[in-house]
Amino acid sequence: MEKDPVLGNGGLGRLMACFLDSTAAMGFPGHGNGIRYKYGLFEQKIVNNEQVEVADNWLKNGDYPFEIRNKEKGVVVKYGGEVVTTEVEGKTVFLQKNYEPILAVPYDIPVQGFHNNTVNSLRLWSAEPVEEFDLETFNQGQFLKAVQRKSDAEAISQILYPSDAGFEGRLLRLKQEYFFVAAGLKRIIRRYKKQHDGSVEGFQDHIIIHINDTHPAMAVPELMRLLMDEEGLGWDEAWKITTETITFTNHTVLPEALEKWPIDMMKKLLPRVYQIIEEINRRFLVETNQKYPNDEARNYSCSILQDGDVHMANLSIIGSHSVNGVAALHSKILREETFRGFYELMPEKFTNVTNGVTQRRFMFSANPKLRTLINDKIGTEWNEACEMEKLEQLVQFKDDEDFLDAMSAVKLENKERLAKYIEKTQDLKINPNSIFDIQVKRIHEYKRQLLNILHVMHLYNSLKENPDQEFVPKTFIFAGKSAPSYLYAKEVIRLINTVAEKINSDPDMKDRLNVVFLPNFNVSLAEIVYPAAEISEQISTAGKEASGTGNMKFMMNGAVTLGTLDGANIEILENVGDDNMYTFGITDKQVYEYTHNGGYRSFDYYEQDERIRKVLNQLIDGTYGGQPFTMIYDSLLLHNDSYFVLRDFADYARAQEEISSAYKDRKKWQQMSIENIAHSGVFSSDRSIEDYKNNVWKIK
Ligand SMILES: *Cc1c(COP(=O)(O)O)cnc(C)c1O
Repeated sequence: MEKDPVLGNGGLGRLMACFLDSTAAMGFPGHGNGIRYKYGLFEQKIVNNEQVEVADNWLKNGDYPFEIRNKEKGVVVKYGGEVVTTEVEGKTVFLQKNYEPILAVPYDIPVQGFHNNTVNSLRLWSAEPVEEFDLETFNQGQFLKAVQRKSDAEAISQILYPSDAGFEGRLLRLKQEYFFVAAGLKRIIRRYKKQHDGSVEGFQDHIIIHINDTHPAMAVPELMRLLMDEEGLGWDEAWKITTETITFTNHTVLPEALEKWPIDMMKKLLPRVYQIIEEINRRFLVETNQKYPNDEARNYSCSILQDGDVHMANLSIIGSHSVNGVAALHSKILREETFRGFYELMPEKFTNVTNGVTQRRFMFSANPKLRTLINDKIGTEWNEACEMEKLEQLVQFKDDEDFLDAMSAVKLENKERLAKYIEKTQDLKINPNSIFDIQVKRIHEYKRQLLNILHVMHLYNSLKENPDQEFVPKTFIFAGKSAPSYLYAKEVIRLINTVAEKINSDPDMKDRLNVVFLPNFNVSLAEIVYPAAEISEQISTAGKEASGTGNMKFMMNGAVTLGTLDGANIEILENVGDDNMYTFGITDKQVYEYTHNGGYRSFDYYEQDERIRKVLNQLIDGTYGGQPFTMIYDSLLLHNDSYFVLRDFADYARAQEEISSAYKDRKKWQQMSIENIAHSGVFSSDRSIEDYKNNVWKIK
């Protein structure tokens, strides 16, 4: 009943929610550590077909009842000032002086397991001024200063940066990243010492600290700092503990998402941390250049410091003992391209853990009737004992007509539930017997919502030109937020809504072709969207989507994937077989070839494919009224279509036609759906956590 706790931007934050759920469900002591943002990701409204952002005040009026404030466990985080060194008993001691102290106060949210009496916790830190000012008794000057200090402190946990896959090199963001790392590590060490006679000895044998993407990469130098400056260890001892404690997952290869902080900024904000980073890098380069003296260029490509920036991924790899990607293809790209230099130096560090999602939320809770139906066939063990592989037994019932009909009926009910939501929220009636073809995820060029909507525009043209054609009714449903500053993605949202407005108000299209944009995609909406889908659109440019997790949520609810050979789509294909999935488009190899050696000319596709020509012209000729879509038109033709939308258009349209004809055979369609559910067990986050436990954390 409560509002969604908006803990992140999209897939990455949601993945951690699934991982915490699975960690507790499997009875492991794994806890989350993050920021208690006062304002989470903005709420999205659509006004005049455009995205408008409204602040998300998820904590107002005590709307979020599960957190527990633990003021007595607060710790001080220090920013700025300078480092002074003194000699104490023949040892050099580093002290940070004239710093700005901020109080970090933890709020704990219990994460309960599943039938197992485990309760872990998600600890979120809130920033507060160190001293409480008595604002009434201050004189004028002190009063203003006190107010200013209070708001400066609180700014750190005020708002989540809303960019899903773009690096924000702002000072406040750097403060945020250090804030929850420093506070979290301090508590971990304090607790460890309490349980181990006040000593950090053996720390690495009992603790794993997992860096989830590079946002907490400062855990490497900060743990070094705590072990050396506060616990009195020497460099080598501290380094051994640090690297044996830390593990790292990379979540994206998009160059614009890789974090690089200006050295000057980091030096000023975190002088001691920066000193340690410099020393980590110096030692790393000395060692590798000694070991591989003829590979200086390669060794330098692994340097943490390059061209005035601190490269956070390089810091994370050097400071950890395990590095993994999140799907087989993504991990391969990390080894062969993104981190190739490191892979050559230390191949044993690299591994893969394919992402997963929790069936407990995305099936049991979101689609309870499906769960009951499956229980009736294969018993309850698959869900009560968290043995999702047992779903494979469903394949035996592929020819059981009653079961097929019952599954169809559940799907129809879920479609009607979504249709009702659409009618209630946008006063639009859609045909529940049309194919529900759904693409819901953050809006990004690489995810190619544009390919989808251009194809819808083509279908509309085709139906207008040839109204008597046989046409299987389709409803295309979109949802997703754009980063507020990502103008291109906002234009894509405007295009989808503009096309929807035109098509939905054309009486010829009634019950045949409809387009819906659902505002404010979040987990609550996701729970009614995924179960209603028949086609899952996973159409990113090959090589760009690290894994995807939406693809898995659709699959376990019986949708059939229409996808490129990208991320975990490839593993979905391996599990369901090509009879039960629609693939199209160029491969990551072809994308690599085009981007490195040229040879792609988007204009050729415009010239040679009449469908493309017509649709692109309509972007700017007033067909869709209002402002022309010049930015999109130019990107596709003038700037040579970096994401290969036109290159893949024909093959995508071909796959869509195959889907239409397959849908006519309702029995065969239902069998495909069952095959998808039956093979979705491996995409449980329980399996991902089992892999982390065995291959990354190596815990019992
Ligand atoms: C699963 C999920 C995502 C991630 O979807 P992808 O298709 O993997 O990009 C984003 N937002 C929400 C609310 C989700 O539930």
